[in-house]
Amino acid sequence: MHFFEYLNNQLYCENVPVSEICRQAGTPVFIYSCKTLERHFNVFREPFEKVDHLICYSMKACSNLGVLRVFANLGSGADIVSGGELYRAIKAGIDPQKIVYSGVGKRESEIDEAIDADILMFNVESEGELETVNQRAIRKKAKARIALRVNPDVDPKTHPYISTGLKTNKFGIDISKALGLYKRAQVMDGIDPVGIDCHIGSQLTELSPFRETVSILKELLKTLRQEGINIKYLDVGGGLGIPYDQETPPPPSAYGSTILEALAEMDVRIILEPGRVIVGNAGILATEVLYLKQTDDKTFVIVDAAMNDLVRPSLYKAHHTILPVIRPEDLAKSELLIADIVGPICESGDFLARSREIPKPKAGDFLAVMSAGAYGFSMSSNYNSRPRACEVLVTGDKFFVVRKRECYEDLTRGEQIPGEIIK
Ligand SMILES: *Cc1c(COP(=O)(O)O)cnc(C)c1O
Repeated sequence: MHFFEYLNNQLYCENVPVSEICRQAGTPVFIYSCKTLERHFNVFREPFEKVDHLICYSMKACSNLGVLRVFANLGSGADIVSGGELYRAIKAGIDPQKIVYSGVGKRESEIDEAIDADILMFNVESEGELETVNQRAIRKKAKARIALRVNPDVDPKTHPYISTGLKTNKFGIDISKALGLYKRAQVMDGIDPVGIDCHIGSQLTELSPFRETVSILKELLKTLRQEGINIKYLDVGGGLGIPYDQETPPPPSAYGSTILEALAEMDVRIILEPGRVIVGNAGILATEVLYLKQTDDKTFVIVDAAMNDLVRPSLYKAHHTILPVIRPEDLAKSELLIADIVGPICESGDFLARSREIPKPKAGDFLAVMSAGAYGFSMSSNYNSRPRACEVLVTGDKFFVVRKRECYEDLTRGEQIPGEIIK
């Protein structure tokens, strides 16, 4: 459930008309609903309230400081994947003791920053990384808390680009090698093995892969405890899907009971790393129609948002519902089009929707690309030298620009023409 709804044929975000935001902040614009962020966070947390748990919001889904602060206020930690995300998380007020650090390619400098910040734990993804974290910690006379990210070889049944828990993926440590590596970690001076971690993929719409994974982790947990390795944290990752179109992902309550049942009585703190399920449907991308273009074969609705703003349709063939910000009074009588909704970028892969039926818009109308809160702005780029969109956070009847639209100077920041080549 979210707070983007029509009232008298006007799309609202909470109590603010989306058209008002478009006019004042300009387009393209990402609009997040604070009430939806809070609601989704609380609904996700609910089933875990009765057990020892920590939610580490996976901030690569949407890492705007304003959005992060909403979660920090709710007591959330963060799952980070870079030094830049550590910087943002701390800046937003997230407690470093609630930060876990995932990712296959942590650099020494990034590891140092995380040790200095005294984060909760590193989710280590390879033997080489374990050695490096150990060495960096020893240099600082510290002990780094770690979990090994194990790869359980479970098929998440999602898009191949967002599957991460298969043997053929670059992530994690082969489950059969985990015990040996934990034993080595146990005797390393700079390492304190405290957790088990996994993350099998994103946009999962079935519970069985989660169930299977958690039971594999549970067996490993038992084995490690028998070996005298004191595992305190079991990090089950993120990955719960959301309805973009016709998908029917399980509700967080069912997800929660599946995890809890599979883990039953293990006396361990459960760490969860939800991303998409919290922010996905809490944000939209609003855009203005520039032109309608009719060719012999097709109708194109050309808008001012493009694949640099929202890459998911181009990258994953992802579906995003597209709605008129101001709906025709009488939908039944309005002329419908089947059109490709495309941006200004010079690539045929630049589309937000293909062969989509929509009420015929005209230049100057605003459209809302729904479910754009996750992997929207955070995956955006400056391709075609397009300044990145602005981001707006709505709360009740107020809205705030939480990231200014980029300007042309932002595009060339840090660039220079070497004197050598100036003629
Ligand atoms: C991306 C990611 C997540 C979040 O995935 P969602 O599908 O957005 O919930 C969690 N953990 C790790 C390690 C990730 O890389």
